[in-house]
Amino acid sequence: MNIRKNLIRTGAALAAALALTPAALAAGPSYISQGLPAVWNAPVSRQIPAAVLTPAAETDWRLLLVNPWNELPEDYEVELATLANGLQVDARIYDDLSAMLTACREEGLSPIVCSAYRTEGKQRQLYTNKVARVRASGVPEEQVEAEAAKWVAPPGTSEHQTGLALDIVAASYQLLDEGQEDTAEQKWLMENSWKYGFILRYPSEKSAITGIGYEPWHYRYVGRAAAAEIHRTGVCLEEYLGRAVLPAAELTPAQNAEAPEGAASSESPLNA
Ligand SMILES: [Zn+2]
Repeated sequence: MNIRKNLIRTGAALAAALALTPAALAAGPSYISQGLPAVWNAPVSRQIPAAVLTPAAETDWRLLLVNPWNELPEDYEVELATLANGLQVDARIYDDLSAMLTACREEGLSPIVCSAYRTEGKQRQLYTNKVARVRASGVPEEQVEAEAAKWVAPPGTSEHQTGLALDIVAASYQLLDEGQEDTAEQKWLMENSWKYGFILRYPSEKSAITGIGYEPWHYRYVGRAAAAEIHRTGVCLEEYLGRAVLPAAELTPAQNAEAPEGAASSESPLNA
């Protein structure tokens, strides 16, 4: 295993707003996803369990929260391990990732890791490209960045910069769109990834809480104990950590920056 050390520095925070525009929906395929806009307004069908935040969650590297409201710390460092295809992940998740992919392949399936660790520079490039595509699609200028941020996280807010997240696709279907969920590989991963410490990070019904559209290919390492609990209860990471906040569209930037932890997501009107 080839491991090297990287120092990650983040840029200025960019809050992602959640307004969806018809023009954006009509836009062409994005690098990350087309997604289905309907999920943004989908009601949450079950009661959300009470937050289970523990003191350990504040210091556990496996439970690092990076989302539109929580930027990667500027001094975040990650030791990387390189996969067979050259992509890199946090060295601490390498063994569990290898075990998961091996188990998946033993079922006769062909998962492919197509994206893993990204530098801030790479994330900035992806985001800048997405902004340009959204702008070209005719979205009003004041909404361009917010629309782009729903599909490509602004630099500093992407889980891919942590080395704990990866995109996995089926060899037979390598598009990052909703069709991915119908592949045998995704079905297996959605059912079994928790056993290896991974969760499907952006479920369809949690978009308003995660700030990210449905991505049936993006897996996040949280450790086996947390993954088991998250899988069992059906919460997303924000809910598990007791850190779900109102979507940016409903808050001012100042509120975003100081959104209280432990906000009662079950009482939030955002899914109404
Ligand atoms: Zn991803």
